[in-house]
Order: sequence, then structure tokens, then C-alpha cells
Amino acid sequence: MLIIDCPWCGSRAQTEFTYEGDATVERPNDGDEKAFFEYVYIRDNPSGWLDEMWQHTSGCRRFLKVRRHVTTHEIAGSAKPGDELPEVRHD
Ligand SMILES: [Zn+2]
Repeated sequence: MLIIDCPWCGSRAQTEFTYEGDATVERPNDGDEKAFFEYVYIRDNPSGWLDEMWQHTSGCRRFLKVRRHVTTHEIAGSAKPGDELPEVRHD
């Protein structure tokens, strides 16, 4: 089980959170139908570190960003949606 640090509540079990998707995808604003289709339905399937959106659904119900390694599930850190995530060390 993952332990996720909610910026408002502290460390909590993953079961209190809901995964909301890739945090790096930006909604297109130009009305391009193809770009909007890709925004909604098309996702990369990367290996390595990924910034994700989660919601603390069984806690404060706020959204947060989590930097997680999708293969090892190691979590580098979490932050409020408008804040920067911690850098990942490559030892
Ligand atoms: Zn919370």
C-alpha cells in the first residue's frame, strides 16, 4: 500500500485517495476538436516518474499532485496543485 502525504492532512494510506490521472496534461483552449479528443481519451503509458493528480476523497476532499515512479511505486513527494513538486534524485 502507498502512503501519500496530503499537503493539508499529512501522511495517509492510499485507500483514502482516488487517482485522478496524469497531472501534466493541459486542456486545449483553441476549440480544436482533434486536440480536445486527444486531451480526453489519449494518454501515454510512460515508465518512470510521473506527476499525477489525486484527490483525498476520504479526508479533506482536496486535489493534490503526487510525483510517483510508476514501476516501483516510490513517491518522491506531493504538493498542492499550484505548487512545485520536489525534484527526483538520480543516484
Ligand atoms: Zn487531505
